[in-house]
Amino acid sequence: MRTPVIAANWKMYKTPTEAKSFLTAFLPLVREQTMSEIVLCPPAIDLTFVLAGVEASSVRVGAQNMHFAEEGAYTGEISAAMLTALGVTHVILGHSERRQYFAETDETVHQKLITALKHRLTPIVCIGERLEEREGGKTEEVLTRQIRVAIGGIDPAQLAPMIVAYEPVWAIGTGKTATPEMAADAHRLIRGEVARLAGKSVAERLRILYGGSVKPENAATLLGQPEIDGALVGGASLDPQSFAKIVGAA
Ligand code: PEP
Repeated sequence: MRTPVIAANWKMYKTPTEAKSFLTAFLPLVREQTMSEIVLCPPAIDLTFVLAGVEASSVRVGAQNMHFAEEGAYTGEISAAMLTALGVTHVILGHSERRQYFAETDETVHQKLITALKHRLTPIVCIGERLEEREGGKTEEVLTRQIRVAIGGIDPAQLAPMIVAYEPVWAIGTGKTATPEMAADAHRLIRGEVARLAGKSVAERLRILYGGSVKPENAATLLGQPEIDGALVGGASLDPQSFAKIVGAA
């Protein structure tokens, strides 16, 4: 049995004051919720406020990015040690917006994964094909490459905490959602590749989340697929009621 994870990616939305208002509305709505792990990933500037706000709850807090180096002259960047010192437990790695706008590559995701695991952060590794890759019949090749480069060479024993988010790029923020069957097929492929690279027991325990225009209206159908172990939610996680409904659907 894999415990579902419902993670919110707030992207570059919400000031600290707006983050606090979100928590005031959201936490009472999920107080009874014990079936899934809830992770909020606010912008870095909000982390301290969100951590303080969720203290008395089971909600966890993740960052949206980190640097792979331990420390150094990397202006504007944040290290794994800085995140753990605050109490952050999760970190999103390789989100497609970071790949698209900030030149992240499979290789940098790999380096970040090594550092996150070393610091006992739970990595949420994002992979997914672009529209032209799906239309060109390359989905399998892209997903296989992304997962192979991300985890290649890492001791399977260390990979246990890793979470993977399958996020078809054409479904992110577009209102287009992969059909439950498409998502389930991709998840099976990813689990198969992880089994091949890191062994069956790592693959069987691996939580694979779906991300891409998940909303209260489609959450139950997507999360009803046995292969889908949760969701990474962007737009619909900004509103406390709508995110709580998605948590409820899990
Ligand atoms: C995301 O940012 O990871 C995401 C899936 O966004 P959205 O839910 O808005 O498509």
